[in-house]
Amino acid sequence: MKAAFFKEHGGSDKIIYDEYRDPVSAAGEAVVRVRACALNHVDMLLLDGRYPPPEGLPHVNGCEVTGTVEATGAGVAGLTKGQRVIVFPGFSCGTCEFCLRGERTVCLRYGYLGAAKDGGYAELVKAPAANLLPLPEAISFEAGAAVPLAMLTSWHALIAQANLRPGQTVLVQAAGSGVGSAAIQIARLVGARVMTTVGSDDKVEFARSLGAEHVVNYRTQDFVEEAKKWTGKRGVDVVVEHIGGETFERSSYALTRLGTLVSIGSHDTHWGRLDLRHVYSKNLRILGTNLGSILELRTILDYLAAGRLKPVIDRTFALKDARAAVQHVLDRKNKGKVLLVP
Ligand SMILES: [Zn+2]
Repeated sequence: MKAAFFKEHGGSDKIIYDEYRDPVSAAGEAVVRVRACALNHVDMLLLDGRYPPPEGLPHVNGCEVTGTVEATGAGVAGLTKGQRVIVFPGFSCGTCEFCLRGERTVCLRYGYLGAAKDGGYAELVKAPAANLLPLPEAISFEAGAAVPLAMLTSWHALIAQANLRPGQTVLVQAAGSGVGSAAIQIARLVGARVMTTVGSDDKVEFARSLGAEHVVNYRTQDFVEEAKKWTGKRGVDVVVEHIGGETFERSSYALTRLGTLVSIGSHDTHWGRLDLRHVYSKNLRILGTNLGSILELRTILDYLAAGRLKPVIDRTFALKDARAAVQHVLDRKNKGKVLLVP
């Protein structure tokens, strides 16, 4: 098959579009013919070596995949060749203490498609059959591929972890990001009120169109002050934070008493400070979360099929142009998801 892979770490110039070994489905696995694959921040870490692929090089990135079933291994039932599917990107062992507790995203042997295993920057990709969900006809391959990581992570963060309720106020960091644009829509779906940050004025209208009531340009405005103004000095109930560093620290100051900060990423830096006096005196909750469950992904697909959630797609590139697609993301030129189509 053809794939866009890399043999050494570096920038987008290390990506090679060429022949690559065909995936073969072992027992319990399925091979999917990729129809669309979305790019992610984690792809960039894998490429430049900050998060080296556990199985070594060469490696194929790509954790968000939709396609059709191409082949199945022994013991796989319920999948037919040609069936439209979406791949749930998290792998868990099913037997460790945390899997047994039903908390598969903190499995001791947790891994992602496209990280622990070769991913979807390819014509074919392999995954455990249990990770495949039917993709409803109402959802295009492109829209489906824009969902599994960003939208699922934001969903799990707001619904399962922060327990967001109607009427509450939410600060979503970075409306232009995949998780940001998803979190705004999900918070609105719940009936919460949303303020968000953008890095340039040309993204203000975009953030409003997603349902944000108050949009702050963090380069020219202080989002903590704006959060206080917007809530009548009270502070917000929930912050969705995925930047790290000063943004993480200042996000905690935007919270009201009993407020919750959900940390779902560290796109700028892995470090962040907290003023502990704020944490204990205001009874703040600082929660970490990653991805979500297969059941939550199914729920999101229902909302997508009904037109009540819409993944934001920036641009689609042909798989052979993966190098240009990666550079587009590295240059932060995208407003929403960037996709590859074989
Ligand atoms: Zn496990």
